[in-house]
Amino acid sequence: MSQAKIIDGNAVAADVRAAVASQITILRAGGAPLPGLAVVLVGADPASQVYVRNKNKRAAEVGINSFEHYLPAETSEAELLGLVERLNLDPQVHGILVQLPLPAQIDAQKILEAIHPAKDVDGFHPFNVGRLVTGGPALVPCTPLGCLLLAKRELGSLSGKRAIVLGRSNIVGKPMAQLLLRESATVTIAHSRTHDLPEECRRADIVVAAVGRPEMVKGDWIKPGALVLDVGINRIPAAEPGKTRLVGDVAFAEAVTVAGAITPVPGGIGPMTIAILLRNVLEACCRLHDLPFAE
Ligand code: NDP
Repeated sequence: MSQAKIIDGNAVAADVRAAVASQITILRAGGAPLPGLAVVLVGADPASQVYVRNKNKRAAEVGINSFEHYLPAETSEAELLGLVERLNLDPQVHGILVQLPLPAQIDAQKILEAIHPAKDVDGFHPFNVGRLVTGGPALVPCTPLGCLLLAKRELGSLSGKRAIVLGRSNIVGKPMAQLLLRESATVTIAHSRTHDLPEECRRADIVVAAVGRPEMVKGDWIKPGALVLDVGINRIPAAEPGKTRLVGDVAFAEAVTVAGAITPVPGGIGPMTIAILLRNVLEACCRLHDLPFAE
C-alpha cells in the first residue's frame, strides 16, 4: 500500500509569514509606512473571537499593525457602514476585514460591498471578484489562494491538469475554480446537484474539497497519485464520550493510501488562510503606496 506525502500546512504557512515579515522589514527600511489591518467583529461569537485574536497575534509577529473593533451584537447596519467608511478613509489602515457571519439585522453583502476594493483583503468585493475572473491585479480570497500556493509548490505548473473543486461557495469554491483556470488547469466545479461525484473525482489530478461534509470524499474517489487539498473543517464526536475532534471533507485514512500528496485536517489548509491574509495586507499596502510587491 502506498502512502501519500502529507503536506505540512503549518510549515508552508510559516514560510509565507517569514517572506511577508522580511518584505515588510525591507520596505520599512526604505521609509514605507507600517502596513495596517483593521478587523471588525460584531457580537461575541466565541469561535470568531479566537479567530480574530489569532489573526491579530500573527499580524503583530510579521510587523503588521492591527486595529481591533469589537462591536455589540445589536449594532445596526448604518453604524457598521459608518465604521467601514471611516476605515476606508483611514491612511493607517490598508486592509479591512469584517468577520462573518454578521447578525441578522445586517446585510453582509452590503457591508462587503462598502469596503474599498483596494482595502478588501478578503477579496470578496465584486470589483476584486470581477478582476479575478477577467484578469488583472486583484485581492484574492485567502483560503483558495492558500490552496493554489500549495498546489503550485507540489506540482509546479498546473497547466493541463484536471482539477475538480467540490463546492461552489463565493468564499472558497468559485474563487478556487477561477484560480485553477488562471493556471490553465481543466476545471470541473461540483456541487450538491452533481451526478456521480465519485466518478467525476476519479478523473482529477487535483481534488479540492470544500463542502463542509465530514469525510465525504472516500479513498476510492481519488485517482492514484492525485493531489488532495482538504479545505473542510468539521467538528464531530470523538471516540471518548463528550469529546469532539476536527475532520476534513476527505476520509483521510483512506485517501492517504491512494493520493500522491494530501493536506491533513487540522494542520493543512487552515494555517495557510491567515498567512495569506497577512500577505494580502502587505499587497494592499504596496499597491496603495505604489511600492513593489514580491509575489
Ligand atoms: P458552503 O456551505 O458555503 O458551501 C458548501 C458547498 O458544498 C456548496 O456549494 C454545496 O453545494 C456543496 N455541497 C454540500 N454538500 C454536498 C454534497 N453532498 N455533494 C456535493 N457538494 C456538496 O461552505 P464553504 O465553502 O464556506 O466551506 C466549505 C468547508 O470549508 C466548510 O467545512 C468550512 O468550514 C471550510 N472552510 C475552511 C476554511 C479554512 O480556512 N480552512 C475557510 C473557509 C471554509 P450547493 O451549492 O449545491 O448547495
